[in-house]
Amino acid sequence: MKEIVIDLEAEKNEILKRYRALLRASKSTLQKGDKRMIRKAFDMALESHKDMRRKSGEPYIYHPIAVAQIAAEEIGLGTTSIVCALLHDVVEDTDLTLEDIEREFGKKVARIIDGLTKISGVFDTNSSLQAENFRKMLLTLADDVRVILIKLADRLHNMRTMEFMPRDKQLKLSSETVYLYAPLAHRLGLYAIKSELEDLSMKYMESETYQFIKVKLNEKKAERERFIRDFIEPIKKTLEAQELHADVFGRPKSIHSIWNKMKKKSIPFEEVYDLFAIRIILDSAPDQEKSECWKAYSIVTDQYRPNPDRLRDWISSPKANGYESLHTTVMGPRGQWVEVQIRTKRMNEIAEKGFAAHWKYKEASTDSGLDQWIQKVREMLRNPDSNALDFLDDFKMNLFSDEIFIFTPKGALIQLPSNATALDFAFEIHSDVGASCIGAKVNHKLVPLSYKLQNGDQVEIITSSKQTPKEDWLNFVVTAKAKAKIKSSLKEEKRKVAEDGKEILERKLKSLKITYNSDNLQKLSYYFKLQTTQDLFYNVARGLIDLKDLREYQASEKLIEAKPQDKIEAEQVQSLLKSIKAKDSDILLIGEDLQKIDYTLAACCNPIPGDDVFGFITVNEGIKIHRTNCPNATKLMSNYGYRIVKARWTNQQELAFLTGLRITGIDDVGLINKLTTVISTDFGVNIRSITVDSDNGIFEGSIMVYVNDTQHLDNLIKRLKMVRGVTAVTRFDSPQSIGRAS
Ligand code: MN
Repeated sequence: MKEIVIDLEAEKNEILKRYRALLRASKSTLQKGDKRMIRKAFDMALESHKDMRRKSGEPYIYHPIAVAQIAAEEIGLGTTSIVCALLHDVVEDTDLTLEDIEREFGKKVARIIDGLTKISGVFDTNSSLQAENFRKMLLTLADDVRVILIKLADRLHNMRTMEFMPRDKQLKLSSETVYLYAPLAHRLGLYAIKSELEDLSMKYMESETYQFIKVKLNEKKAERERFIRDFIEPIKKTLEAQELHADVFGRPKSIHSIWNKMKKKSIPFEEVYDLFAIRIILDSAPDQEKSECWKAYSIVTDQYRPNPDRLRDWISSPKANGYESLHTTVMGPRGQWVEVQIRTKRMNEIAEKGFAAHWKYKEASTDSGLDQWIQKVREMLRNPDSNALDFLDDFKMNLFSDEIFIFTPKGALIQLPSNATALDFAFEIHSDVGASCIGAKVNHKLVPLSYKLQNGDQVEIITSSKQTPKEDWLNFVVTAKAKAKIKSSLKEEKRKVAEDGKEILERKLKSLKITYNSDNLQKLSYYFKLQTTQDLFYNVARGLIDLKDLREYQASEKLIEAKPQDKIEAEQVQSLLKSIKAKDSDILLIGEDLQKIDYTLAACCNPIPGDDVFGFITVNEGIKIHRTNCPNATKLMSNYGYRIVKARWTNQQELAFLTGLRITGIDDVGLINKLTTVISTDFGVNIRSITVDSDNGIFEGSIMVYVNDTQHLDNLIKRLKMVRGVTAVTRFDSPQSIGRAS
């Protein structure tokens, strides 16, 4: 056993040092008496966490101090939040109660801590509880936004200090972070925190790619800095000559955003041109902001030619999260596109610190998109019907997307997420307008309900009193508001139909001499694989179950004991988990003969030995092995964390695994032949299928092959890249079955 020696005296000094750094960080917001409050909170936290340590071995108190420091320094929050951040874990982890907090710090602090305690991890239960937990967190938005801001600071610090956590925890925290926390930070305008959260998640979920891009970025650092210096030199001079005070500098893009670009355009790192953006931050007087930003724009575009399609004016119409800036892309001196962002100091503070900074300047901004957004969240949460998982899906979609601006016939401006349809617009105007919508005129032309709106469209809605919401509308609306309204109206409809079904069923059972009681109804529902008795009534009313089926039921010997579906699920998951743990290791070894565990490789990502993988317990198909960078992984891990098992490959030479390669190149008559020769003759690899598309001299092929492991695959890719005419070879995850977990 390793002996750990702890120098308590040195630790005490370190704690005080960190505490003083926190005070310095919060100095700008401190008012009379605030320092005493913070000291009191610090003493209380120190005392109650005194015997606790973090996974790294450090004193626990480092964590609340760091969270408070992030809240003050990186989000710009004030004393109340600092106090709450210092105390955010005490109610959950120590003997202190909410009553103690309220007695010492008053109602407001107690309310926020209560919110923070409620939304802390209920991770080991089941999916709906997990989603419910997220929902609770969002509910606090309506109550006091500071709860979420402190929660984000807490998550950021945990992500920064995650290296000592076990691997499955790292994966779980990372996937939750990209799934919900980063989009939330984005929506609240905390761009710096959002980028860091995404980068940290990627570091754990896709370590190899992360390191690869990081190394590549470093290699070219000196060259890039020289380029930036040369690029901004003439701009700086002209700004000075025109007496505009500004900071001009280059800012690297995050690793995650570079990776996104590579995936989206399927290009290698070398072809990503915007590895950085140029920022011009003007020090303007309040009434000069807009005109000075445009002056700077004019200076930049006098020097470099702008791309006419890439001008974004978020000063005239700020984003819903409060973001204001002028973006343009210009042609640099070496024939390379460069993005330039122009904004004032005030705008920049809002862009970096988001919500809190926004509040400080509230008087200055006339129209606050953020206020409207929070209002919308409140509305969505008020809808008590919606299923927690569905709600989360809808909500998340609205977190991610950018906005478009649409005009009403009278010229009023309506903000919608991009990809919104004419029907979304109708629901945005009023839910009755949406429910009775039969078509729309966009820029005076008649379009269908599903028409996707473009920025700047003017829309007029056509309604009919005979119209009612239809099931297929759900396939194309994107706003959470429209979805919720359509669902609740369909549900109401279904409820009415079910009423009739209930009467019919009662009569039918009577004729079969089956007693009509809740026990039998539940057995029947289970027999027909329906979730609720209401579904049973509905199916009877719609004629989907008739007398004949009921007789079969009666005759069937499988009079199964009624058991709710989710209970069966939970039991199956538990027993599978037990059988893995019984093998005195909680890691599933793939390919191990001794372990008679039922597992299969997931079809959505086709893992092969060497890939980073995890096991996911499904209800009917045993354990599925996914790659940690599978398109489905994030959702599985964040919503069904209790079903995740650690998995590792064992040595296995003979087996072959199916994987897909995408090959692009210059079309050439002999190309396919050359490729198949390399694959099957040179490498002895079996090909399962080839699909080839060729268009205007460009060749694009997808080839499914059987390989042994990642090493084998890498060699094959390297060799294929050497074939003349081939420009790129990449592995792909087959696009099918990206969807719900089963
Ligand atoms: Mn914490």
